[in-house]
Amino acid sequence: MRKLNKKELIIASHNDGKISEIRELLNFFDIKTVSSKELNLIEPEENGSTFIENAIIKARSAAKLSNYIALSDDSGLEVHSLNNDPGIYSARWAGESKDFNGAMKKINKLLNQKGAITPDLRKASFVCSLCICWPDNHIEYVEEKIDGTIVWPPRGSLGFGYDSIFLPDNHNKTFGEMSSEEKHSWSPTKIGLSHRAKAFSKLVELHIEQ
Ligand code: IMP
Repeated sequence: MRKLNKKELIIASHNDGKISEIRELLNFFDIKTVSSKELNLIEPEENGSTFIENAIIKARSAAKLSNYIALSDDSGLEVHSLNNDPGIYSARWAGESKDFNGAMKKINKLLNQKGAITPDLRKASFVCSLCICWPDNHIEYVEEKIDGTIVWPPRGSLGFGYDSIFLPDNHNKTFGEMSSEEKHSWSPTKIGLSHRAKAFSKLVELHIEQ
């Protein structure tokens, strides 16, 4: 098992929402970051069949192209009554134009068509896999999730992606109604709330030197 002991890395992502959340989490460690988007790196084809496989593809590609240690995130929303769709296709459901309003409407429509009206039939999980890849191709990875319910209509305009239809269990605000600090609820001594913060907690425990 390897630990990150350098104070700089590349965030292997072109997604602004993710890049800023990961930066906020890394801030606690004084780690300098650049992103694949800022370096204009080409995006690899995400042809894995799991979140972890896709996280590995992204981290390997960014480490190889940049020669930095790369940290990637592959994440998405699994809606239980929809056979866990959109899952690894969460970004792709929004299409080229990144129309997440359309993707959220599609989820609500499919749930309604299934008669999934009550909260117990609208359970969902956000999943996050994080992978670190070193320039010598060594990888370490973790995965975490958070459970919740799909609400309609969307609530809140903070966050990104599917945040405004996801109500985490035991909370009364959707992710779209939470500031990013609330959504992470993370510090080096806490596990965190979101799938990303929880995965980050595991990554810190196992693979980041403090
Ligand atoms: P990818 O991991 O870049 O392939 O895309 C993940 C997609 O899942 C994002 O584009 C979002 O649509 C969705 N997603 C992942 N994490 C979150 C989150 O924290 N909030 C809202 N949507 C998310």
